[in-house]
Amino acid sequence: MPETRDDWEERLKEYLSANDLRLTRQRHLIAEAFFETDGHPNIDELYLRVRRRAPHIGQATVYRTLRLLVDSGLAASSRFGGAATRYEASDEDSHHDHMICTECGSITEFNNEAIERLQEEVARKHGFAMHSHKMELYGLCRKCSEREPGSPEPPKEAR
Ligand SMILES: [Zn+2]
Ligand SMILES: [Zn+2]
Repeated sequence: MPETRDDWEERLKEYLSANDLRLTRQRHLIAEAFFETDGHPNIDELYLRVRRRAPHIGQATVYRTLRLLVDSGLAASSRFGGAATRYEASDEDSHHDHMICTECGSITEFNNEAIERLQEEVARKHGFAMHSHKMELYGLCRKCSEREPGSPEPPKEAR
């Protein structure tokens, strides 16, 4: 999601100052660690990344800063079927949906124009003014569905 990753600093500053908040060193460091992380990290994974650079920052601060990023629209969060909340940089220009493997936890992104159009059509038919959506498909990823029954489980993917 190149656009958000390039201009997050300006956009975050704007959002914070509109809410009488400042881009403190801690917030900057946490946001930087977040936008450098690919995939869909959860709070523990981000906290570990932040701690490597700044051991004094607590998990609560990381959490609060992530909430700010979500509230500002710079990040999106999802629970993906009740597991720990996962975060990713959000960008309206590169919308995508997710397939979640219930066996290994891997998350695959996809984007399908026909599905996007159909959703808008359905909303329109119901007189529903849709401003966003989340589509999550649950099942087995290719690796897991091809695995022989009884063979050892693959390691959980941290994405
Ligand atoms: Zn899998
Ligand atoms: Zn994603």
